[in-house]
Amino acid sequence: MIETAETYFQKVDRPEARRRLSDRPLVLKRELSNKTVRAKINHGRWLVLCPNCPSAEFLFNDKRFFCSECKNEAIGGELYRVIMPMKKSQIEALLESRSISNRNWQYPETVDDLIRENELHSKEIE
Ligand SMILES: [Zn+2]
Repeated sequence: MIETAETYFQKVDRPEARRRLSDRPLVLKRELSNKTVRAKINHGRWLVLCPNCPSAEFLFNDKRFFCSECKNEAIGGELYRVIMPMKKSQIEALLESRSISNRNWQYPETVDDLIRENELHSKEIE
């Protein structure tokens, strides 16, 4: 599976992880901007890279991005809308056969690209 904030933070027994989940309703009270950012998959995790600072966050299922480092100050603290790929399920399924470190996807890679990569590296995939 490809981890999201929800799946990851629920199994990590750290106060920081619990706070990320419990604070989410507060984060969602912020204004929603028309600005967008894209989600990517890195080492089996759905992430969003902050467009304004070097930080990245796990993707939440609500598809709203709020950077815990810079607090989205560049857009007045509003939330970004996260753009997900149309073929999210297919992308996730194609990455399942890979080792965690090779579960990577980012726009504009296509499903066909992933199929081709899987075929190229079929000997490394059990
Ligand atoms: Zn940031």
